[in-house]
Amino acid sequence: MVLSLVGCVHCGMCTESCHYVLTNPDDPTYAPAYKADQIRRLFKRHHDWTGRVFPWWVRAESIFKDEELEELKDVAFGKCTNCRRCSINCPMGVDFATLNRAVRGLLVSVGVMPEGVAVVSKDQWEIGNQMGVLKEDYLETLEWLSEELVEELGDPAAAIPIDKPGCNIVYTINPREVKYDPRTISDAARIFYAAGESWTMPGEGWDMTNFGLFSGDDELGATVANRVYEKVRELRGRKLVMSECGHGYRSTRCEGANWSAQDLEFEMESSVETMLRYLGQGRITVDPSKNTLSYTFHDSCNNARGCGLYEEPRELIRLVVEDFREMYPNRAENYCCTGGGGAMSMSEYTPRRLKSAKVKADQLAATGAKVVVTSCHNCVDGLTDLIKYYKLDMKVAQLVNLVAAALVLEPKQAAKTQATGTTGP
Ligand code: SF4
Ligand code: SF4
Repeated sequence: MVLSLVGCVHCGMCTESCHYVLTNPDDPTYAPAYKADQIRRLFKRHHDWTGRVFPWWVRAESIFKDEELEELKDVAFGKCTNCRRCSINCPMGVDFATLNRAVRGLLVSVGVMPEGVAVVSKDQWEIGNQMGVLKEDYLETLEWLSEELVEELGDPAAAIPIDKPGCNIVYTINPREVKYDPRTISDAARIFYAAGESWTMPGEGWDMTNFGLFSGDDELGATVANRVYEKVRELRGRKLVMSECGHGYRSTRCEGANWSAQDLEFEMESSVETMLRYLGQGRITVDPSKNTLSYTFHDSCNNARGCGLYEEPRELIRLVVEDFREMYPNRAENYCCTGGGGAMSMSEYTPRRLKSAKVKADQLAATGAKVVVTSCHNCVDGLTDLIKYYKLDMKVAQLVNLVAAALVLEPKQAAKTQATGTTGP
C-alpha cells in the first residue's frame, strides 16, 4: 500500500491498460494514475510530511463535503473494476486496484457506497449469503437436484450429500448457482459421482463468495471467510473445494486467511484443479467430441491476476473440447469482463460499464468461437450482458458444464443419461 501510494512517477505506462481509458480516450479522469491521485491527495494530507507542511505544493487535500465524498465514490466504484490490469503493467509496482479497494473500504466505513453494494453486503452479513437465499430454499434446491440425479443415473449413490462428516471434500458454491444456475451444481455432483469421490455440501457456511473483496470491508471479508472455514472444521473435511467463481476463489483461497488472521489446517482448491486431477488420475473419462462447438476461454481477473490460476483451466478445456481457440490478449493481459469488482450490482453505472465493454466484445468477436468459457459466475453475468448488448453470436459456459457434458459414464448410467437427453453446452 505504501509503495503504491508513494511510488508513482506518472510515466503513463499504465494508462492504456485500462478498458475505461480505451473506450473513453478523450476523458483523462479515467486514467489509472489520475484516479490514484484522487486517493493519494488524502494520504499526503494526513500521513506524508510534505503534505502536512506544504499541502499546496504537493496537492494534498482532505475531504470535508458530501459532494467530495460522492466524487470519490464515483471514482472508486464507478470508474474501476479492480481488475489489476494496470497494476501488472506498472514498472514501479503500483497496485492501483489494491489502493482502490482500500478507498472503497474507507467510503463504506462512513456509509457512502452504491445502493447495490449496501444491499448485497447486508444480505451477506445478515442472511449468510450475498443473494439472500434462505436456508430452506437452498436445501430444497439441493434435494430436487439430488432426486433428479439419482433417477437419471439409476443409482442412490448419486445423491448429493449434505453435512456428511469426515469427507475428503467439502464443496462450496456461489449463491447464484442455487438461484439462477442449478445445473452447475448437478454437473459438479455428476462429476464427483463419476470420480467415486467422498464429498459433501455444507448445510450452512456454503457461500464461498465474499462481498468484502468488492466493498473493501475487511471485517465483512473476515466474517464471511470464517463461516466457510468453521464449517469445514465442524465437518472434519480434508479439503475445501470452491466451485468456479473468481472472486469467491480469491477471497476464500488467497485473502480470507489474512482477513481473518488465522492459519488454516486444511487444503483448498478450485473445482477446476479438482476436475483436472480426476482426469490426470484416470478417475473420470471424457469424450471431447461430445462438446461439438468452437470454444474460447476468458480469464477471470480474480482467478488469474488475483490468484494465479492461469494454466489449469486451459489444460482442462483442451481435454474436454476438440475446437479450442485462444483469446488475445490472454492470461495476465486479458481484459476484464467489465462486470468485475461488484460492477454488476451497481446499476447506476450500467451505461458506463457497457460502453467500456466494447474492448471485451471486440476481443470475443475476434476469436470466431461460438462459446466463451469462463471459471467465474460473475464473468458469466458480465459476458452474457455484453454479448446481448453488442449482439454477438456467442453463448457463455463454465468448465463444469463442459466436463459434465463430455463425461463417459458406465453403460447402465449412460443409457439412462441418453434417455433424459443430456447434451453439451
Ligand atoms: S505505470 Fe505506474 S508509475 Fe507509471 S503512471 Fe501508472 S501507476 Fe504511475
Ligand atoms: S484496476 Fe482495471 S479498471 Fe481499475 S484502473 Fe486499473 S485497469 Fe482500469
